[in-house]
Amino acid sequence: MKRLQDRVALVTGSSSGIGAAVAKSMAAEGAKVIVNYARSSKGAEAVVEEIKTAGGEAISIQADVSQEDQVKSMFLQTFEAYETIDILVNNAGLQKDAAFVNMTLDQWNTVIGVNLTGQFLCAREAAKEFMRRGVIPEKSCSAGSIICMSSVHEVIPWAGHCNYAASKGGVMLLMKSMAQELAPHKIRVNSIAPGAIKTPINRDAWDTPEAEAELLKLIPYNRVGIPEDIGKAAVWLASDEAEYVQGTTIFVDGGMTLYPGFATGG
Ligand code: NAD
Repeated sequence: MKRLQDRVALVTGSSSGIGAAVAKSMAAEGAKVIVNYARSSKGAEAVVEEIKTAGGEAISIQADVSQEDQVKSMFLQTFEAYETIDILVNNAGLQKDAAFVNMTLDQWNTVIGVNLTGQFLCAREAAKEFMRRGVIPEKSCSAGSIICMSSVHEVIPWAGHCNYAASKGGVMLLMKSMAQELAPHKIRVNSIAPGAIKTPINRDAWDTPEAEAELLKLIPYNRVGIPEDIGKAAVWLASDEAEYVQGTTIFVDGGMTLYPGFATGG
């Protein structure tokens, strides 16, 4: 029996990077996966094909997670295809970086809209379905699992990225408050906080040897993360192996949150 056998998992923003790895890892553990994408279907179709070639099951659904009507439509399409949902991975996210005094309201609203409001909108639809359906003991001991993709920047301030850090700090207390409120319904809510993972979102930080060497100064484990590091953590966190894990953030960051500047005495 695979760890996520027959569970329906919706992974937002999974046409690239961490989301694609989470989608593939969950499918490899038996989940039926919905690969959500915002605009172009190309990346999402490639992920679906890769999952199917490996013997798994997946479909793709378009939706901008910051738009309520599109999120509702995505969940309806999910129920049409698979009747219900068991796992939501709130992964979609973006950056619009600017010095604080130059940051436009549009840059602020776009990042908060996708990274924070998007997580609220998707989690609300998932939680409603988990509560309606309840626990199916043959599938899982929980009624459902929500994983919020946060960041080390839920605790590390980030100059030049106030909108992003605010969104991830917001995700932390959104996650914890949902976890507290939904726990009596046997709904599990947790976050994963990746450190630096090689994906398109941060390509500038690792795609030259000089940039990577600079980045490694922030990572005690001395390796930049890869999307599969997060895929493995997400599978475990969604599975019944993590049944008693509730309202917490799992940092998958090679020690980035360990104040590496103090490693030699500070
Ligand atoms: P990425 O750019 O490859 O993935 C982000 C995905 O979100 C893309 O597929 C994008 O199309 C999608 N997306 C953006 N706006 C959307 C919208 N409105 N609706 C639906 N989908 C949308 O980058 P990634 O690194 O894989 O990022 C995934 C998540 O991990 C993000 O939440 C990001 O903040 C978080 N994260 C990444 C790192 C890292 O080092 N890569 C570190 C910490 C946290």
